[in-house]
Amino acid sequence: MSNADAPLGLIAELTHRCPLQCPYCSNPLELARSAAELPTEEWLRVFEEAAALGVLQLHLTGGEPTARRDIVALVRRASELRLYTNLITSGVLIDQAMLDALAGAGLEHIQLSFQDLDPANADRIGGYAGGHAKKLELAERVTRAGLALTANFVVHRQNLGRVPEMIRLAEALGAGRVEIAHVQYYGWGLVNRPALLPTRAQLDEATAAVDAARESFKGRLAIDYVVPDYYATRPKACMGGWGRRMLNIAPTGKVMPCHAAEILPGFTFPSVREASLSDIWYHSDAFTRFRGTDWMPEPCQSCDRREIDWGGCRCQAFALTGDASRTDPACALAPDHQVMLEAVRESEAAPADLVYRRIGAGTGLAKPPGSGAASQSAMPQEADGVGP
Ligand code: SF4
Ligand code: SF4
Repeated sequence: MSNADAPLGLIAELTHRCPLQCPYCSNPLELARSAAELPTEEWLRVFEEAAALGVLQLHLTGGEPTARRDIVALVRRASELRLYTNLITSGVLIDQAMLDALAGAGLEHIQLSFQDLDPANADRIGGYAGGHAKKLELAERVTRAGLALTANFVVHRQNLGRVPEMIRLAEALGAGRVEIAHVQYYGWGLVNRPALLPTRAQLDEATAAVDAARESFKGRLAIDYVVPDYYATRPKACMGGWGRRMLNIAPTGKVMPCHAAEILPGFTFPSVREASLSDIWYHSDAFTRFRGTDWMPEPCQSCDRREIDWGGCRCQAFALTGDASRTDPACALAPDHQVMLEAVRESEAAPADLVYRRIGAGTGLAKPPGSGAASQSAMPQEADGVGP
């Protein structure tokens, strides 16, 4: 029996289908087709198992989770099970009838993603004409319906100058929280790193704007800020540590410690079709291999931050070094930190064209400069930083 605590949250990737095509999408390059998705009754059973296991928060994401016809039934069951239910959405498929049904089913929170403040640029980045206007409309309806709203702005070198206005818009829309989240460079984001990674000067300006806004909006609006690893000197505690807080279930039922883990070689990730969530969480190699600190190499093994950042991100270590058990190159103490510094130097060059996220488009994509691995994938850093 593993000595792990029960998981806090379940990230349910209900589908990889999405009408948008964001070039930094956190889904893997090889997207699951709808025929391979878990059917309704299996998701309902999974939610029951999650509640029995001790999960408290359910993050319904995708792709676009409302592309599932059964989304209201899924929310209703989660609510009956007393799971705190958060819908992470691009918002473009939610009309008034669906919103009313979701609220009636017990949905508690909506995290609505924005591609930019400028409508034309937002629609260009998302690859969906008219999307930004729909999001603005939905945000107002969400707060009118009494649901908690987080506005999530994904930022990069093509929109970073508008951070102060993004924060003002979030407040005007009635959001209780705004998340200014730099692109994380895994999966589609890694493919598009030459187009999206900001320069040091851009990053510093945006960080100063967030600091100033935190002062002026104190007590009115919570502001989360997720910075890119490439400018960090220590890594983030990815997912709160491997197999410590979160379970992630792909549309096909594969259970992983994070979105991106299926790129890691030498793992067989178990499916909810074959094993119980409890067995998977406490006993599977997939969850126990990098749990805790025993697996760590130096310099992590003797570092006093090893139970703070848990050695950073295994998928980033693999994507940039080809070895998932190495120290995350985001750490300035890591033997591979140079890879990050090279990418930062490249960010001073003119940005490249965007590669849009499409089913089938991930096959055979070229590696970005500085990437040492054969494939890349994507993952959230924290429970509240996932999805569209
Ligand atoms: S050496 Fe390892 S544990 Fe220490 S700060 Fe770097 S990644 Fe974290
Ligand atoms: S980031 Fe979200 S909205 Fe954009 S393509 Fe991916 S799932 Fe869709």
